[in-house]
Amino acid sequence: MLTKIHTEMTTTALETRMSARALKFVLSANLQQDALSGQVGHDEYHFDNNAFEQANAYIQAQRSTLLAALPAEDLPAAWSAFGRLTHTVQDFYAHSNYVSLWLDECKAAPPPPPEIDPLRKDLIESPSLHSGRICLPWDAVYFIPGLRNLALKFLPEDSHGKMNLDSPQQGPKFAYARAAAIKRTAHEFEVLEKSLPAPLFGKFTDVG
Ligand SMILES: [Zn+2]
Repeated sequence: MLTKIHTEMTTTALETRMSARALKFVLSANLQQDALSGQVGHDEYHFDNNAFEQANAYIQAQRSTLLAALPAEDLPAAWSAFGRLTHTVQDFYAHSNYVSLWLDECKAAPPPPPEIDPLRKDLIESPSLHSGRICLPWDAVYFIPGLRNLALKFLPEDSHGKMNLDSPQQGPKFAYARAAAIKRTAHEFEVLEKSLPAPLFGKFTDVG
């Protein structure tokens, strides 16, 4: 997703739950995943190229880093790990066909985007779930200003360029990807709330 969209979604999900200082670390680490160094050879950061297993393992690894950093009082490390985790879970909805699978079930009258359930186990585990393949060179041409439409002529249906829901430009499904990503970000926060002892969770939120 675009930088400003990751920023807006993360802020919407977390700003009333964490201190401004903590949120700043979360946002910085979230956005860093889309720096050039995080774009090349890191399908697991973005759920690209059907790297579901690797991306889920990456999410788990960030959670472990966070859980180790908190008792060690390394709050910036904990917040940064959570920031990286939020980026990856948000990209799941923008780079896979999860939203399409969810909408396929309600063709007659699609509910409004905030009603999407981001955690449908049957869809997450569906054999039909897939994510956009990076098809070079056209998936690179796609990002050159003015050449997007040309690239789209050559990109296959299961490419990143054809599948992504990275911005409102991609049509009505974007609003569902955004809503699911915000809910999932809040869910990941609540997972920590449930699993951490209150004093450690208080350190993590840095509130009060
Ligand atoms: Zn990304």
